[in-house]
Amino acid sequence: MEFELSDEERAFQGAVRAFGDHVLRPHEAAIDRDGAIPLEVLRPMAGLGLLAMPVPSEYGGMGGSAVLTELAAEEVGRGDLSMATAVFFLLEAGWGWLLSRHGKEELRRAVLPPVCRGETFLGIATTEPGGGSDLAAMRTTARRTSEGFVLRGEKSFVSGTVEAGRMGGGHLTLAKDAGGDGFHFLYVPTKSPGLSTQRFENMGRMGISTGGLTYDDVVVPTGNLLGEPGKGFHYAMEGFRVARTFVSAACVGAAERALEAGTEHLRTRTAFGQPLGKFEGLQFELVDLYVQVEAVKWQCRRAAWLLDRFLAEGGERYRSEVDRAVAAVKLTAPPIAFEAVKRVMMWFGAAGYTKDVGLERGLRGVTSYLVGAEGGLNIMRIILGRELLGPEFVPYK
Ligand SMILES: Cc1cc2nc3c(=O)[nH]c(=O)nc-3n(C[C@H](O)[C@H](O)[C@H](O)COP(=O)(O)OP(=O)(O)OC[C@H]3O[C@@H](n4cnc5c(N)ncnc54)[C@H](O)[C@@H]3O)c2cc1C
Repeated sequence: MEFELSDEERAFQGAVRAFGDHVLRPHEAAIDRDGAIPLEVLRPMAGLGLLAMPVPSEYGGMGGSAVLTELAAEEVGRGDLSMATAVFFLLEAGWGWLLSRHGKEELRRAVLPPVCRGETFLGIATTEPGGGSDLAAMRTTARRTSEGFVLRGEKSFVSGTVEAGRMGGGHLTLAKDAGGDGFHFLYVPTKSPGLSTQRFENMGRMGISTGGLTYDDVVVPTGNLLGEPGKGFHYAMEGFRVARTFVSAACVGAAERALEAGTEHLRTRTAFGQPLGKFEGLQFELVDLYVQVEAVKWQCRRAAWLLDRFLAEGGERYRSEVDRAVAAVKLTAPPIAFEAVKRVMMWFGAAGYTKDVGLERGLRGVTSYLVGAEGGLNIMRIILGRELLGPEFVPYK
């Protein structure tokens, strides 16, 4: 067992921390206010290799391991507390990696290099107006033709609908085979004829859009199919495993940033003639939060480590361990981050409620992971219940 980071990992972590401190933090308020991540952020991200970083180098990525990507996600979550940049980061990392794994060679070469350079956007579209948790009940269909597929239906609450339209790019889209032959996972460029996008008004992570995608007989060529036809559900779950690990890591980073600000505040702010940190009520809150954040951070790193083992070696043992570890961190990291940000806001008193202190951005951003982004908390409980009790205990057909 080895808990120490390697020299390479520590150096990379330091470089991403510096990017967070010197590039993300100065832009954080503007990202939230203006509703976009500017090129001044995306270019250095691409320069550091942070965009779609697990993608192999022949397609423009850095071929980063899950562990290295997890470390970067922590730092990006710490740098932009609103989570907007973290979402951009983890979508490209998780789904870019999946495309590099299951996309056809021509598709990889066409889609991935500009994503890695920060010139185009890549996202995921599974959720529909009728629900996101029960994916098998989706209504969007893909009708097979001699040249590919014709998509009909609607997706909603999809991240990056505006970015994919503005920058170019598209979404990996899960659709039910119109003839009942499983699910297909297709790369759908946002500029495809028959595809229209909508933007929803969210409460947080304003720097990246969330919206709807409507498919009115959108033609998707066979070359845009990931893997084998009919097996799309399996590929989507593979991507979720990876993306959920990075979501959790970003929550850890946000929680650590909040606790750092809170610790400094408890040291320096006085009331009743003493620093706030001398009051046991607050000191113990800090300690309890520190312990929880530290625990979930190492859970996250272990989940990433298991992912690397699983991807390298496969096998049922790692599959089950990975599923448990990933569901456990996605279940615990967002609520812990939310609690850390909320508590620290309270230590700041009225100032915590202002945009100047900026903690409210974190509260709004982290909430997205409580309500459902990358899978609701109860869905993580269902995965864990299945792993602990057996598949016959899944509470639905
Ligand atoms: C900011 C944001 C960004 C998002 N980005 C994307 C994206 O890029 N692409 C995409 O496809 N989707 C995206 N989503 C959607 C997300 O995947 C869904 O919100 C999620 O899957 C839950 O689906 P739902 O919102 O339809 O809730 P529902 O499925 O309607 O569930 C509602 C509630 O019931 C709970 N629940 C459901 N089933 C059960 C059960 N059997 N037992 C107990 N509780 C249950 C859920 O956990 C949830 O709390 C995003 C969501 C948000 C908030």
